[in-house]
Amino acid sequence: MAENRPTPPDVDRVAASRAAVAARRARAAVKAQVASGERTALEVLASAVRDPSGVEGRLRVTELLTSIPAIGVTKMQRIMTTLGISPSKRLGALGKHQRDRLRDFLSTKPTSKRSDRESSLVVLAGPTAVGKGTVAGYIREHFPDVRLSVSATTRAPRPGEIEGVSYFFVDDAEFDRMIEAGELLEWATVHNAYRYGTPRRPVDEAIASGESVLLEIDLQGARAVRRAMPEARLVFLLPPSWEELVRRLTGRGTEKPAEQARRLETAKLELAAQGEFDFRIINHDVAEAAREVVDLMEIRKAPSLS
Ligand code: 5GP
Repeated sequence: MAENRPTPPDVDRVAASRAAVAARRARAAVKAQVASGERTALEVLASAVRDPSGVEGRLRVTELLTSIPAIGVTKMQRIMTTLGISPSKRLGALGKHQRDRLRDFLSTKPTSKRSDRESSLVVLAGPTAVGKGTVAGYIREHFPDVRLSVSATTRAPRPGEIEGVSYFFVDDAEFDRMIEAGELLEWATVHNAYRYGTPRRPVDEAIASGESVLLEIDLQGARAVRRAMPEARLVFLLPPSWEELVRRLTGRGTEKPAEQARRLETAKLELAAQGEFDFRIINHDVAEAAREVVDLMEIRKAPSLS
């Protein structure tokens, strides 16, 4: 027989979900501060130690590490293993030895990532399944100097996706709020299904601190960015052929046939828009395409092999 648990009254649940959203936003702000060089990761750790149940104390170690510009997901996972800290651990809940090891590690990181280098905003768009996400992922791993904008989306996370790294996963109410509050540089409903949007603040902050930013978004988003920021460079990623695009779309296997058909329809329309873009790159090979995108961002630094 089912257990007869009391359900919290609606009003409690609403208040709890509001509080959860506010807490998530506060943690996102801390991450943005670390990413922009406004605060160092060491300072954030110090705040967490002072107040383990505060915003910094509730931040996961994984989130703090991936806010540091030179650290991608793979590198972060390696660091966590080396430090002997489990991925779910929050800063405020670290044991003394874990804290000391993390502090030692963070002490070796630069205090700020600010630079006076020319900044640039590059938008990577292209048809569905052309491999934009894969190219963007490759850039995240191999070119730590490139800031990749993290979008908000109303769709549910796929296996392996990480909150705050892959996307900020939000519900419809929160997405509405972000639009209302003017927090999104652009947003669109993609494939007639879910909404996706680019948080404005990290992009503004990155540009203000001389960083180059890469947005991997859909075509409608690219057009909106062009209107909002005409200086942005728009890059269109092309498949080697239409047949190859169909193969990639159907081969991914994450969508149902009806969804695949809908995405193919969208892809046809999207391909027709390539003339609107400043640059076109053919995705024969992920590493090559990634390098071409990065070259457009005028980042001279060699890729990190670590
Ligand atoms: P997926 O659900 O496969 O992660 O992404 C679906 C589509 O949404 C992709 O074409 C991706 O480029 C697009 N997308 C992701 N983030 C954003 C965003 O912030 N704005 C817009 N307009 N499109 C986005």
